[in-house]
Amino acid sequence: MDAAQDAVVKTTVTALPGDGIGPEVMKATMEILAAAGAPIEWEMAEAGAEVFKKGLMTGVTREAMDSIAKNGLALKSPLETPVGFGGKSANVTLRKHFELYANIRPVRELPGVTTPFTGRGIDMVIVRENVEDVYAGIEHMQTTSVAQCLKLMTAPGCERIIRAAFAVAKAEERKKVTCATKANIMKLTEGMMKRVFEKVGPEFPEFAQDHIIIDNCAHQLVIAPEQFDVIVTSNMNGDIISDEAAGLVGGLGIAPSANLGDHVAMFEAVHGSAPQIAGKGLANPTALLSAAIMMLRHISAFEVAEKIEQALFITLAEGKNLTGDLSPRGHGVGTAAFTEQLISNLGRASNLPSRNYQKIELTAWPELTAHIEPGTRELVGIDVFLETDMAAKPLGEALEAIAEDTPFRLSGVSNRGVQVYPPTGGQTFLVDHFDCRFLLKHPIKLDGTSANGQPEISYLVQRIGAKFAWMHIEKLQRFDGKDAFERPQGEG
Ligand code: NAD
Repeated sequence: MDAAQDAVVKTTVTALPGDGIGPEVMKATMEILAAAGAPIEWEMAEAGAEVFKKGLMTGVTREAMDSIAKNGLALKSPLETPVGFGGKSANVTLRKHFELYANIRPVRELPGVTTPFTGRGIDMVIVRENVEDVYAGIEHMQTTSVAQCLKLMTAPGCERIIRAAFAVAKAEERKKVTCATKANIMKLTEGMMKRVFEKVGPEFPEFAQDHIIIDNCAHQLVIAPEQFDVIVTSNMNGDIISDEAAGLVGGLGIAPSANLGDHVAMFEAVHGSAPQIAGKGLANPTALLSAAIMMLRHISAFEVAEKIEQALFITLAEGKNLTGDLSPRGHGVGTAAFTEQLISNLGRASNLPSRNYQKIELTAWPELTAHIEPGTRELVGIDVFLETDMAAKPLGEALEAIAEDTPFRLSGVSNRGVQVYPPTGGQTFLVDHFDCRFLLKHPIKLDGTSANGQPEISYLVQRIGAKFAWMHIEKLQRFDGKDAFERPQGEG
């Protein structure tokens, strides 16, 4: 190595070789990066099945956590989520622990990878919110036969992912940002993402902007995928459409992703540990290598990133020495031969130019508990969720009697979101979990000068509790004169 090369400042990256084919694709990726002269120093760390087997419920060692926190950068191979032992997914642990809220999934047609969509010009990025929504995993059995999962979406959570989408659009010189939600049905949660998009969007007039309902987005992705440029969406929606979009250009086996937060960035292949081919030297390292290319761009090593990307494009385009998953049956080579072929192509340019990338500049978020106090706040009632096998009519009548000499009146009873009392004539199948809405006869101003409705609520709940098993209570509030809750289906 000459003195000039010696002087290159290297960036330390935590490498998690993971499970199954993980170590094989990691080794190939490291060899290619080294051959290309990428300025990376690796720090090896452990996570995944072996760690679960040692009895660590997170699946990630303390040393790995500390290494990622120190370096702020990680390249991660697939980690197995063991079935039957261990704790929650180690992948989700890492995303949550480091608040990696922005999942960036580029989807671009690759030369030589033929699919029914080849030639359509698919080139988009899906920006998926990565830590909120139903993935928070806040679940409770309400009764023995009714399960509940809380879908928490927050205004700051929506704002930062939307700003991240515009940051991606800017870094990749894209033209349009599409927000995909289910705002028509979930007006408060999914609707929040749409509203925040419409509030933040005007700050970025250089990009065309539109909103699409998520199911139509899924449909449009297969009808006219070339119309999309950047799509921003919530966690569950993004999980599904990003796999769908990856399928358009050749599948999960070649798809990379970045998980970005304010302090840590973690890059990974989208595929899993492929236990069927693990240890056989057959795995295709393209996805992890593409994730490493994203990582190089993240640290502004644009030249070497492009050098590797062009070598990958030309290797795929020429179709010589590809792994089995990309070759006609029986013609594939192993990981090592593919890696060698790719290394021999370093320095060559393909017919598909690399984009003119810049660094993605995320907005840094203050380390404060996010809180916006409304101008006015009123308590208008409570929803009491209770468990009973009574029919709707006698239940409604019993609750009306309970409310009679309280500050509340029964507004209605619903079952799985549909009003069943007063009867609407609808044909609702009942389960043993009823939402009983009580409205205050006189709403209470929550301005700190009164007891904030506590005595009124306690009195009613005590009376209900004497006769029924209640599961949970939701306050019904009005912020700035606007109801902060939805109405059940069928309410008049
Ligand atoms: P998988 O992605 O491991 O395998 C699906 C199919 O794709 C298999 O046929 C496999 O052989 C093939 N495949 C995947 N990657 C390939 C590659 N690089 N080269 C060639 N062929 C490849 O999905 P799965 O079987 O559902 O999951 C296996 C394990 O991986 C599970 O324990 C799961 O929890 C874990 N997983 C981890 C991650 C992650 O770490 N981000 C993601 C998905 C699944």
